[in-house]
Amino acid sequence: MSDQDRTKQLTQRVCRALEANRPHDAVRLVVTGAEKRILPSGAELLKLLQRLAGARRAKLLIKAFAYYPCMGCKDGLESCERCKDRARAAWRKMACEHCLDFGMTRCDFCDGAGWVTYNFIPAGLRASVIAERMNTALKAMEAQLKKKTPRVTAANAKKLGSLLEQRILALNRLAGILENALTASKSRTAGGPQAGTFAKKVIRVASQTWPRLEKRMREQLLKLAEVLRLEATRASTGGAREIMQDRAKFYELLSRSRGFAGTSLEHPFLARSA
Ligand SMILES: [Zn+2]
Ligand SMILES: [Zn+2]
Repeated sequence: MSDQDRTKQLTQRVCRALEANRPHDAVRLVVTGAEKRILPSGAELLKLLQRLAGARRAKLLIKAFAYYPCMGCKDGLESCERCKDRARAAWRKMACEHCLDFGMTRCDFCDGAGWVTYNFIPAGLRASVIAERMNTALKAMEAQLKKKTPRVTAANAKKLGSLLEQRILALNRLAGILENALTASKSRTAGGPQAGTFAKKVIRVASQTWPRLEKRMREQLLKLAEVLRLEATRASTGGAREIMQDRAKFYELLSRSRGFAGTSLEHPFLARSA
């Protein structure tokens, strides 16, 4: 079989996987195909796919790569290594600065994005995947920013506390997605003549977005402190009260800290871009 025929045949298998809604199979076929040099991996890959599979399927394939899950976590989260052994319910004297005492923290492997890292993606598709992921993250951010935060009351404190934790983790995931995009766009080698312009655009969007995300994180941390202050007033023992007040103080300090240094909310590359 000629090289051309092998390429064509593989592309047809990719198309069938996409049409059968088996995006992960499609991704694996392309990755293996590029490794075996049945498909190119550089800038010509996207054009070739568009030509052989059509624009619609090429778009489907970009989405398949964009949302291929990280192999090290689920949705960007993993149990905090530093406080794994200690039960969360048993309040410790010192808050875990790494996970903010949430017990869950962002995955080291994917920076909390929850999606496969860019080095897994053929170089020629990375720019499209960056764009796809950024659009999704920006939309999710707008949705997060629209959410109202209810007033803290004795009746809702507990529920609100876990809601705020979820929101902070969700915002942190979006920051991870942006940070990865930023890093990948800078180190992209297969972008052809437009690589510089593309990277500049990504940097501009990231630098405009991070301050909004950061501001929202700070607000939610302050609200969490408020929850703990209120819970402290209702603590059954003096010891428990003191610990809750300490936690509240920790979140208040963190909400004002520079770049959330030393915690899993820190995103140095994003912060530097802003
Ligand atoms: Zn921890
Ligand atoms: Zn991960």
